[in-house]
Amino acid sequence: MKRSALLDTHCHVGAYSDPMSVVRDAERTGTSIVAVTEDPDEYRRLKTRLGSRREIEVALGLHPLRAASFTPNDLARFFRFVPQCAWIGEVGLDFSRAGAATKKQQLKVFEVVLTEAQPGRHPLTVHSRGAEKEVIERLRDARVSGVMHWYSGPIGPIDDALAAGLYFSFNAAMVQSNRFASLVRAIPADRVLLETDGPYAKSRGRIAYPHEFNDVVRDLANAWGTAVEEATSIIGENQARFLSQTDTTRRLLR
Ligand SMILES: [Zn+2]
Repeated sequence: MKRSALLDTHCHVGAYSDPMSVVRDAERTGTSIVAVTEDPDEYRRLKTRLGSRREIEVALGLHPLRAASFTPNDLARFFRFVPQCAWIGEVGLDFSRAGAATKKQQLKVFEVVLTEAQPGRHPLTVHSRGAEKEVIERLRDARVSGVMHWYSGPIGPIDDALAAGLYFSFNAAMVQSNRFASLVRAIPADRVLLETDGPYAKSRGRIAYPHEFNDVVRDLANAWGTAVEEATSIIGENQARFLSQTDTTRRLLR
């Protein structure tokens, strides 16, 4: 793997106003992207549009905040697509105010996801706002390879996540937040991956793009007390180690 080949583990490529330019800029800079989706229909559409690009893996998702609207047909489609997808996401639980009313449906959908995502098969990128403990417990019990995306919960449960082998993806908004220092203290450098969560996450007031990881890596390097090159190679090794736990997605690690 090229040292500069960073992986954006959580990007809503299809939600940018010009998805193809996002893909081209990422390809130009050697950044690979996990293009998350919110439902199996979006997965199918994005897969048709981007599935042949070398730097893109389209992830199969069932977004927790959409749980109440999923029909048995959506879940059946999820089952059908699982064997052909390399990543699963965006999935998870959201017990914040936005998701409090649909807890029950979310738990059911997430259980479906974890039953299908067998250990060693797919990496997952997982949403956990307001439900961090619940998500970590379920991922641990399912023994899947998971990335806690944009972790915003209390520091306490992080130890359990680390013990369960989970990774954490950092984005531009996280490294600028006042929680960054405590997250870096709690999460060892060898469990850190990158994400944009674009176009929803902002970096210094602007939408984050996968080809602009420089700021995030520099802030991580500062926090770790290392040079930027060293931080880049730590993240590169983490990507390789994380993906080597699963039997898909090796192609992103050329
Ligand atoms: Zn997201």
